[in-house]
Formats: sequence, C-alpha cells, structure tokens
Amino acid sequence: MRSVEEHQRVVADLITARRATATGLAEALGLVLADDVAAPLSLPVFDNSAMDGYAVRADDIASAASDNAVKLPVAEDIPAGRTDIPTLQPGTAHRIMTGAPMPAGATAVVPVENTDAGTETVAIYAPAPEGRHIRRAGEDVTAGTTVLRAGQLVTPAVVGLAAALGLAELTVLPRQRVLVISTGSELVSPGTPLRPGQIYESNAAMLAAAVRDAGARVVATPTAGDDVAQFAAVLDRYAAEADLIITSGGVSAGAYEVVKDAFGRAGDQGVEFVKVAMQPGMPQGVGRVAGTPIVTLPGNPVSALVSFEVFIRPALRTAMGLPAADRPRRSAVLTETLTSPSGKRQFRRGVLDAAAGTVTSYGPPASHHLRWLASANCLLDIPAEVTEIPAGSQVEVWDLSAP
Ligand code: AMP
Ligand code: MG
Repeated sequence: MRSVEEHQRVVADLITARRATATGLAEALGLVLADDVAAPLSLPVFDNSAMDGYAVRADDIASAASDNAVKLPVAEDIPAGRTDIPTLQPGTAHRIMTGAPMPAGATAVVPVENTDAGTETVAIYAPAPEGRHIRRAGEDVTAGTTVLRAGQLVTPAVVGLAAALGLAELTVLPRQRVLVISTGSELVSPGTPLRPGQIYESNAAMLAAAVRDAGARVVATPTAGDDVAQFAAVLDRYAAEADLIITSGGVSAGAYEVVKDAFGRAGDQGVEFVKVAMQPGMPQGVGRVAGTPIVTLPGNPVSALVSFEVFIRPALRTAMGLPAADRPRRSAVLTETLTSPSGKRQFRRGVLDAAAGTVTSYGPPASHHLRWLASANCLLDIPAEVTEIPAGSQVEVWDLSAP
C-alpha cells in the first residue's frame, strides 16, 4: 500500500500552475499576483481639498478670528470633478468641495464650519496656516513606486488600489479549471423522483463546492452511468476544457467499476490505481487522460470529500500560489478513547472546541455517513501505526472551519 504522504506528492506533482494571465479586477479577487505592480500614476493624482470649504491664500486670512471675520468675495465654485482648474486671485476665495482640485495660487482650505458658508462673499472666522486641509499629489503613492508584490493575494483593498491607479486588470495565476465527473448507474439528479434502487447524486455537487471553496473553478459536473462508452463520451465532451479531472466512484474492487475499466487495461492511458494506507479513501487513482491530469476518488461520499481534502485541495491551492495550501493543523485533547486500524492513517470527523482545546469524534468511521461530516468542523488525523488513543491524549486535527 502507498502512504498518504507519497500519494499527496504524486497528486501535487501532477497539478501545475497555469500561465499567468492579465485578469479583470472582479475575477482576480482571491487569486495571487504573478508580477510586481508599479504605480502608473501618483495618488492623489493632483493637489486637492481635504474638506468642504474655501480655498484661500493663508496670508489673506491671517487675522481672522471669531469676533473679527475676514470677508472675501467668492470668485469661483469648484465642485469635485471640475476639470478647468481656475487660478485664485489675491484677496478672493473659491468655494471648494472635498476632492476638488486646488486652484493655482491657493495655499490653504478653510472648512465651511469656520465660515458663514456665503456664496457671494464669505465671512471667515479662523485663520489657516499654509497647507492646511490640502491633500498633496503623490503623498499616498509616487508614480513608479512598486505598490504590490508578486505572490500577494488580491484582496478587496488590492482591487481598490488597482482601480485607483487606473488599472483595469491585474496579472494573476489563474484559477485551475476542474471537471467533476460522477459515475454510477444508480445516480439520479436531485429534483427527479427516485425509483427503487436509485439514489440522489451528491458527490458532484459536493466536490464542485469543494473545488470552488479551494479557489478553483468548476468546468462542469456531468454524471456517467457504469458504462465505459458513456464515461468516455463525457470525457470527450469536457476534458479539453479542464486543467484537472476529478471522478468519483467506480474505482474499488467490485464489478462494474467503470473508471477502472476505462483506464485499467494495462495502464494504457496512464492512470494508475493504487491502495493508499488511509481510512476512509483507500482506493485511489491518478494519472493523465490525453495529457490532462486526472484524480479518481472513491464513490462513498465521505471517502470522496476526505480524499479531496487530503490530496486535491492542497495541490490545487499550491498550483494557484494561494496562501494556506494546507488547512491549519493544531493539537487538541481527545475527550474519549478511540481505536484506529493498524497500518492506515485514519481521518475521523470531529468537533473541535477551539476555546477549550478539546476535540470529540463525531459519527461512525464508516464512509457513507455524510450527515456527520456536514456538522463536523475538523478531521482528526490519527497516524497509521496508532491503534488506540486514550481519552485525554493529544491528537492532531485539521481545522476545516478555516480557509
Ligand atoms: P463506488 O465507489 O462506485 O463503488 O460507490 C461506493 C458507494 O458510493 C456506493 O454506495 C455508491 O452508490 C455511492 N456513490 C458513488 N457515487 C456517488 C455519488 N456521485 N453520489 C452519491 N453516492 C455515490
Ligand atoms: Mg459506483
């Protein structure tokens, strides 16, 4: 049997970064910059007012006081967005709004609160030193400065800065495009009535959600019955659009194992099927189909999602350059005694009480108990050689509540 660590390496080696691509700001959110970004212009772009008020020459209002108003004629009105920038004549004021360009010759802004708010003439009740309430061009960013670094995550603030600099696109490592195929003749789409022996297809919806949650993109979520021709038709239809294909089902030891049957013949298409020393998720497959990486997961829903967590999620995030490729790991005190099979690394679903530092297993170890996984917040990671962990001992957990 192959160890979990080795299979993790094989999957990680298979999934490689896409070429860096100039990407619109909305789509770039959550991805990682491929290049440094130098500011194409300065911020602020021009000297502008930090207040609603009056642009003046500081000298003209030096004697202003609450009982000794300086009265000036209001020669211009400068709202934000005015593009013909006037010149202030000595002995006059311009009414000016926050963000509006400073008129040439003005050396300070008097906030409207320190005036009578006049529109023909204005009475000013307080002096303002030179430079007061003026936001200077370039005081935030000087043109040419490197403001963002390669490897940095595109956050809402990064999007804001890029837009402020007039950049409509950022060059990022694109999302991996993932095709999620479910296999099984018993599967029916939710929304259709079930006949005896049929069940609702849930892996595709679940794995697609996990793909998106990992920061990647879903190409499609087709289902194929346990029929090699049908499965091959689905691959032909979608595989070319994908950077990675994930299948679920059809890889264990029974008959009608469609994924194994499709690729298993002498490894003709370069997919190898292995047993990984883990529970759940022992039967795994990995390889390439017409050059596209493929990872074949077992069909039991818990096995499928735990396998995704262990093998695919970290590899996808690494290929996208995303921070925290692995879920945060921590140690917690086990509240009960657990047993685990010898020779298999076991991932039990658990509830972590982060404040108390304790963890309790949640639900049975069997791999069809999806209900428990839905309300667990961690995986207990029990080493392969351990067969019993007494209550009160420390166990390692993967925190699924964190990205
Ligand atoms: P398999 O790996 O194909 O033998 O499937 C193992 C178990 O998982 C069987 O009980 C299947 O019915 C179930 N299963 C497989 N694929 C899905 C799926 N896409 N949605 C829900 N259950 C599935
Ligand atoms: Mg099946």
